[in-house]
Amino acid sequence: MSQPEQKHYLEQELMQLLRSDESVFSFLQKGSLDGLWYWDLEDQHNEWMSPEFWHTLGYDPAQKSHKVSEWQDIIFQEDLAQCIENFNKHCDDPSHPYDQVVRYQHADGSTVWIRCRGLAIRDENGKPVRMLGAHQDITELKQAELNIKAMQARFELAAEGASVGIWDWVDVEKSEEIWTPKFYELLGYAPNEITASLENFRAFLHPGDQAHTFAAVNRHFEENTPFDVEYRLKTKSGEYKWFRGTGIASRDESGKPQRMVGSIQDIHSSKLYEDELERTIIKLKQSNDDLERFAYVASHDLQEPLRVVTSYVQLLTRRYRDRLDKNAADFCDYIVDGCSRMQKLINDLLEFSRVGRDKLEKQKVDLQEIVESVKQSLARQIDLCAAIVSYENLPVVRANSAQIERLMQNLVSNSLKYKRESVPPEILISGTEKADRWEISVKDNGIGIEKKYFDRIFVIFQRLHGIGEYSGTGVGLAVCKRIVGTHGGDIWLESAPGEGSTFTFSLPKGA
Ligand code: ADP
Repeated sequence: MSQPEQKHYLEQELMQLLRSDESVFSFLQKGSLDGLWYWDLEDQHNEWMSPEFWHTLGYDPAQKSHKVSEWQDIIFQEDLAQCIENFNKHCDDPSHPYDQVVRYQHADGSTVWIRCRGLAIRDENGKPVRMLGAHQDITELKQAELNIKAMQARFELAAEGASVGIWDWVDVEKSEEIWTPKFYELLGYAPNEITASLENFRAFLHPGDQAHTFAAVNRHFEENTPFDVEYRLKTKSGEYKWFRGTGIASRDESGKPQRMVGSIQDIHSSKLYEDELERTIIKLKQSNDDLERFAYVASHDLQEPLRVVTSYVQLLTRRYRDRLDKNAADFCDYIVDGCSRMQKLINDLLEFSRVGRDKLEKQKVDLQEIVESVKQSLARQIDLCAAIVSYENLPVVRANSAQIERLMQNLVSNSLKYKRESVPPEILISGTEKADRWEISVKDNGIGIEKKYFDRIFVIFQRLHGIGEYSGTGVGLAVCKRIVGTHGGDIWLESAPGEGSTFTFSLPKGA
């Protein structure tokens, strides 16, 4: 774009003015400018606009001919009315500033926010003959302001929706505060029904929560620890309700708190529920402990009288067998049999209550060695039914050796016990490595279990068969579940009647 040959007379004059009048220069100095204009008030159609003025608005200055109508056509009409009003006032009274924010339509259709200032240049009689003006593009600022407003509106909406009341302690040296309508509502009051102040907040605060709440505020002020507390506030009806209070202080350059803004959130029902839950857990734990102690003591103390019964019945049959008739001898055998079953039951029960009572000591445990040892203990049963017990990929884990052996023995002996008639058991024990755990499976080709019993069989004393069919107490799998549980793992099974069962337990690696 070439510079016009002849400078506009107003531009020339302005240069002249700038050179001769210091006040004009200082006016221009103020702030960085995005456009400059100089208006002939004696011939009001003429107004020189600097090229920057038009660039700001997206136009080519070369296409413009310094006519007032050019900008008056693209300024927002309500803003033009404001300009004219200020212009008239400024012409009448120099102390009235010609200074306003106006909106223009940019060539691309968007809105440009401009701060437009002006200074009337007067003749020796004080009559305004020219008007010098400056433009500053404040669109970005305006947009940021609009964004903040939108954000604030969104925040208030969110706070409203989340049932959060906001408080603003504008000056921490004073008591006055600002509370949002929701704050009042949460406490059962109409907006502004009572004065928003620290004093009134203190009056709402439950006596039992005063100390820790204000200690938290002080800590936040002094050490900048987060202010996030739970307290009870008295509502209008006189009832106390639980709230979660959070807040953050703004500080001066030296770090001294100036103002604090925060929120209250109604947590009453969840707090009551939490308390109730905590009480229930304590009660449950208590009764569980009692039950365990009872099971332990009972089974422990039952052993002694049982031993007495067993040994005297045995003595009776040994010494008096000749003098007893057939029936009496059979009865004695039944008693001995019953006693030995009871002994087994007590032993199992004792074992069950011991797992989880004793502290879990962990060692390095080679599962391969464990399986070998289990095979040895069960050698007689294995031989009797010609079972094949094999294993693969068994790891070394950190666990309680005695408990893992018990677990493995229970599973393998079940696989031997619940075999199909005239089908020799085939049992495979295998390990699978997962990212965070090992999974160990004991797979058999036995009678299998219906899916509906999968949960039930892990419950103590739950059996699927009468003692006539298969011997047992129904404690074995309950013990397995406990052992796995105390190691932080899980136990489950896959099975179908007639198709064998696979019991799998997991052991966390990091344990
Ligand atoms: P018990 O063997 O003393 O009855 P358990 O707790 O070890 O007690 O097992 C509970 C029940 O689960 C058993 O009565 C049996 O019905 C079933 N069960 C356990 N292991 C197997 C298996 N490998 N195959 C088929 N059924 C099984």
